[in-house]
Parts: sequence; C-alpha cells; structure tokens
Amino acid sequence: MHRYDTDPRFRALYEKIGNVASLEWRKEDAPRSECCTFVENPYLTPDGRLYPCVLCHADDYSVPGGLGKDLATAFAKGAPLWSSLLQTSLGRTDKIAECPGCPGKPVCAGGCMGRAWGSRGDFMAAEDRCELRRDIYRQSSPAF
Ligand code: SF4
Ligand code: SF4
Repeated sequence: MHRYDTDPRFRALYEKIGNVASLEWRKEDAPRSECCTFVENPYLTPDGRLYPCVLCHADDYSVPGGLGKDLATAFAKGAPLWSSLLQTSLGRTDKIAECPGCPGKPVCAGGCMGRAWGSRGDFMAAEDRCELRRDIYRQSSPAF
C-alpha cells in the first residue's frame, strides 16, 4: 500500500495488471447491494459434492453424489438449501459484533460468509480478514 501511494511507476503498473485485495478494498465506494451470489460460481468436488460457491464449503448446504449424474438435478436439490443460506447471509451485517461503527460496513457488509464458515465454523462470525479490512477502511476514511 505504501509503494502504491508513493511510487507512480508502480501505481501505473498495478493499474494495468494488479489485483491485490488490500488495494482494491480502498477503491470500493459503491454500497454492496448484492449478497451471496452462490450458484453463479458453484463448486463441484472431484467426488461429486456440489457446493453453492467456491468458498462456502458447508456440508449441510451441499448436494452429494452428483458424480456422473444430471447436474440440473443436483442444482434443483440444492436450490432450497441455498435459498435458506442466502437468508442467513443477508442477516450477517446486522448480527456480526464487529460491524457496527466500521467505516467499511456499506461496502464490505460483513464480508464473505464462506470465509467466516471456513475460518471460524460460524456463519455469523466476521470473516477471517475482518481485522485487516477494518484497519484499511479506517486509514482510508477521513471521517473516522
Ligand atoms: S460465501 Fe463468499 S464467495 Fe460464496 S457467494 Fe458468498 S460472498 Fe461469494
Ligand atoms: S471489515 Fe469487518 S467489521 Fe467491517 S464491515 Fe467488514 S466484516 Fe464488518
């Protein structure tokens, strides 16, 4: 981040090919309107278990036994599960203890539920990068 702020050549190069989360977080300004998109990026394991997205690997919300079978059927089985998971995801930002007062709340909105599950085993926990994100939002927020 320091290099990005102080080195114009580095910054120009980064703008062409860079994609570093901590730098991208600082650029976000649009409120996060959508929640988890799930089946736009489904994840199928080598043994045929279908998860709703690449990062949310909660077995209770997956469809096993999809190998060699009709994928549409697996999606149809998963749809009600993922619909209920979506409702959980929508409530995260109001329930995560760390979020009130965070200057990044409008754009982060609780972060990634899959990362929260993977790192803490809790859909309602802040995601594992929360502390880092909060620091960056604080530094980028003149009002904070
Ligand atoms: S769990 Fe994370 S990766 Fe999956 S859809 Fe939600 S925000 Fe995206
Ligand atoms: S950075 Fe942490 S506290 Fe801030 S909105 Fe995201 S999850 Fe909530």
